Amino acid sequence: DESEWAEFDEAAAEGDEAPPKPQPVLAVVGRPNVGKSTLVNRLLGRREAVVQDTPGVTRDRVAYDALWNGRRFTVVDTGGWEPDAKGLQSSVAAQAEMAMHTADAIVLVVDAKVGATATEEAVARVLRRSKRPVIVVANKVDEERGVADVHSLWSLGLGEPMPVSGLHGRGSGDLLDKVLEALPETPREVFGASGGPRRVALVGKPNVGKSSLLNKLTGEDRSVVHDVAGTTVDPVDSLVELDGQVWRFVDTAGLRKRVKTASGTEYYASLRTKAAIEAAEVAIVLVDGSEPISEQDLRVITMVVESGRALVLAYNKWDKVDEDRRHQLEKEIDRELVRVRWAERVNVSALTGRSVAKLAPQLRTALDSWDTRISTGRLNGWLNELVAANPPPARGGRQPKIMFATQAQTRPPTIVLFTTGFLEAGYRRFLERKFRETFGFVGSPVRISVRVRE
Ligand code: GDP
Ligand code: GDP
Repeated sequence: DESEWAEFDEAAAEGDEAPPKPQPVLAVVGRPNVGKSTLVNRLLGRREAVVQDTPGVTRDRVAYDALWNGRRFTVVDTGGWEPDAKGLQSSVAAQAEMAMHTADAIVLVVDAKVGATATEEAVARVLRRSKRPVIVVANKVDEERGVADVHSLWSLGLGEPMPVSGLHGRGSGDLLDKVLEALPETPREVFGASGGPRRVALVGKPNVGKSSLLNKLTGEDRSVVHDVAGTTVDPVDSLVELDGQVWRFVDTAGLRKRVKTASGTEYYASLRTKAAIEAAEVAIVLVDGSEPISEQDLRVITMVVESGRALVLAYNKWDKVDEDRRHQLEKEIDRELVRVRWAERVNVSALTGRSVAKLAPQLRTALDSWDTRISTGRLNGWLNELVAANPPPARGGRQPKIMFATQAQTRPPTIVLFTTGFLEAGYRRFLERKFRETFGFVGSPVRISVRVRE
C-alpha cells in the first residue's frame, strides 16, 4: 500500500534528527568506602547525597550526565560493584577493566587516610596498561595537614595524586579542571564497532516485562535495590555488560520509577518512550508474546521506524506461549508486521532467561546494518542491472528513467534515487525488496526517497 511509502518519504524529507552527540565518559573506580559516590555527587554539583552509610547496600552501575565549564560529559559511578565471590581485589580489578573498555578517562579514588593497599596496587597495575588518562585522587583530605599523607600515592606509578575532600568539596574544582583536560572533546571511536557503549532503548507498552528483562540482564533486582537505597538523584542510564560488550541502556530510571509511581498516564509514558528512542541508536521493542499484538505495540514499533533507529523485536513471556498461540502469532506477524519484516525477532522469557543471550548478537547485527554505507559505484552497478531487466512502468505514455542512486546517509541508511518522472509506489516497493535481497540491512530501517528531475 501507498501509506507505507508516504511515511518513509516524509520522514526523509523532514531532515533526520541525528542521535544526540555522544559525550566523553569518565569512570570513577576504587575500593568500597573510599568515597567514590560522594565524589561523584560533588562532580555533579549536587547537594543531595547518593551516599549512605548502610554497609552492603548495592548500588547500580550508573551513568550520570555532568556539566563543567560548559562541557558535557558522562560520569560512571562504579560504587555499586560489590565484591564477588572471587574477592575484593579481583572485583575492583574487574571494575578497572570495565572502566578501561568504556571510559575516555578514569579517576582512581584512594582513601588518603588508609593509603594504597594491595587492592590499589593491583588496580594500578591494570590501569598502567590502559591507554586512557588516569587521575589518582587522594580522597578524605579534609584539612591541610592531611596533605602529607598524599605523597605516598606517587608509588602507584600513575602520576601526581590530587588531594581532595569529596565530603567538603576541597580540591574538587581543581579535580574537575583536570578531568576536562584529560577528556577528549568527543569520545573515542564513537561509532566504531569497538567504541564507547552503544545506546539501547528498551521499550514497550506497560507490563510486557521491561523491568523484568532489565533485571535479568543486569542480574540484580534493581527496583528493590533502588527503593532501599532511597537515592535522591536519578541515574540517567545503566551500563549493562552483555556478551562481552558494554551497552548503555538509556533512561532506565523510568523503568524503576514506574514500580513506585504507577500513575503515569499513557500519554506521559508515550512521551518517555519517544524520548528514550530518540536518545538511543537501537531499540529493543518488547511485546508480550502470550497476548495478541495490540495497537499500542504497533505504535511503539512505528515510533522506532519513524525515528530511524535500528530495531530488534523481542517476544517476551515465551514460557507462556503454547502451540496454539504460536500458530496465531505467525499469522499476526504476517498480517501486522510486514513493514518491519527486516527486523530480527527473538523469543525470550525474562522469567526463565530463555534466549536472553541472543539479544546482544541481534543488537550488534542491527547496529552494523544501521552503520553500513554502500558505495555509490556498487549501488549503481546493482541498480543498472536491475532496472535494465525490470524497467519502471510507463506512466501517461512517458517512461520514467532512473539516472542514478546514492546512499546519502547512514544511521539510518538513506538512499536517494534521481529520476526523470514519477516512480509508482509498487515499483518503489519492488526496488526496496530487491535492495534488501542484495544488501541485507537486517535490523535497520532503510529510507528510499526519490528526487524527480523534470
Ligand atoms: P564508595 O563506596 O567508594 O562509593 O564510598 P562512599 O561515597 O559511599 O563513602 C564512604 C564513606 O566515606 C561515607 O561514610 C562518606 O561519608 C565518607 N566519605 C566520603 N568522602 C569523604 C571525605 O572526603 N572525607 C571524609 N572524612 N569522609 C568521606
Ligand atoms: P514492565 O511494565 O514492562 O516493566 O513489566 P514488568 O517487568 O513489571 O512485568 C510485568 C509482569 O509480567 C510482572 O508480573 C512480571 O513478573 C511478568 N513477567 C515479566 N516477564 C515475564 C516472562 O518472561 N514470563 C512470565 N510468565 N511473566 C513475566
